[in-house]
Amino acid sequence: MDINITELQLKDPFKIARRATDASRQVVSIEIDGGIGETAPARFYGETVETVSMALKTIAPALPDNLDAIHDVMEDVETTLGGNYAAKSAIDMALHDRLGKKLGVPLYQLWGLNPHKTPCTSFTIGLDELEVMAEKTRRAEAYPILKVKLGTPRDIEIIQKLRDVTDKPIYVDANTAWAPKEAVRKIRELARYGVELVEQPTKPNDLAGLKFVREHSELPIIADESVKRTSNIPALAGCVDGINIKLVKCGGLLEARRMIHVARAHDLLVMIGCMIESSIGITAAAHLTPLVDYADLDGHLLIANDPYTGVTLDEGKLILPKRPGIGVA
Ligand code: MG
Repeated sequence: MDINITELQLKDPFKIARRATDASRQVVSIEIDGGIGETAPARFYGETVETVSMALKTIAPALPDNLDAIHDVMEDVETTLGGNYAAKSAIDMALHDRLGKKLGVPLYQLWGLNPHKTPCTSFTIGLDELEVMAEKTRRAEAYPILKVKLGTPRDIEIIQKLRDVTDKPIYVDANTAWAPKEAVRKIRELARYGVELVEQPTKPNDLAGLKFVREHSELPIIADESVKRTSNIPALAGCVDGINIKLVKCGGLLEARRMIHVARAHDLLVMIGCMIESSIGITAAAHLTPLVDYADLDGHLLIANDPYTGVTLDEGKLILPKRPGIGVA
C-alpha cells in the first residue's frame, strides 16, 4: 500500500462556527493494487493525518488476498482495527476503485445506479466579515444552491446581507453552535428569508434538543455531527428530518450505502456531504448521489491545487465520469 500526504491549499481562508480559520488542509491518499483512495481526517472526530497514516500502516500487511470481496475485507479491517473511520474510508475507496477498474465499469454502474439522477451540489460560503461573505456569494454565480455557515451572534444579519445579493436557495449549517431555544427563534427568522433547510443546529449528543428544534420549526432539520454510522440512525428517527453522510465519518462507501438504506427505512432525508478533499474523495462520494436528496460536494471546488479531475458540474448538477472505478485522472 502506497501512502501519501498532500497539502491542499484553499482558494480562500475557510471558517466554521467551532474552528479557527484555515488556509490549507491535509489529506492522505493511498494506492492498493491500482485502486486509489483518499481521506480527509477531522480532529473533531479524533483523527489526524498522523493517526490515519499509523492505522494504514497497521492494516496494510493484514489485508487478505481476495481484495474483490470488499465486504469481507472491510470486516477483517474492522476486526484488526477499531475506530479510525477516516483511515478505513481510504481503504474502502481504494478497493472500490480497484474493483471498478478491474471490471471496466464506473462505480455507479457497479452499484446499478442511474448516473442521470444526480442532484445539484450546494456551494459553501464559510464564515467571514459580512462584506466578504457577500462578495463570495456574488462570485459563486456558477452554483445554483448555497450552503451558508452560521453559528455566530449575527446569523440573521448574515442572511439578510446575502439576500441583498442572491435569491438562490440557501441551506444553513450551524455546526452545533445553537442552544435549542435559540435555534427555534433563529430558524423562524431564517425561514422568512427563504432558507430551505438547517444542518446540525445544536450539540451532537443532545438528541432531545434536536427533537425540540424539529418540533418547533418549519424547516427540515438535518443531522451532521450527530450521525456518524448506521448504528446512530435509529435513535435519530423522529428527532431530525434527515442525515448528512460523509465517507470520512462512516468509514467508506460500503457503510455509506448501508446508511442510505437504513435512513430510508426510517423515512429520513439523505444528504451526502464532504470535508475539504481533492477530486478523489469528492468523486467517490458523488457516485452515491443518485440515491440521495441533497449533495453538498464542493470540497474540491474550494482548493487551488486539486491534483485530480473527476466529477464535473453542469449548472451545479453533478456529472459523473464514465471512466472505470472512481474515474479520476
Ligand atoms: Mg455540516
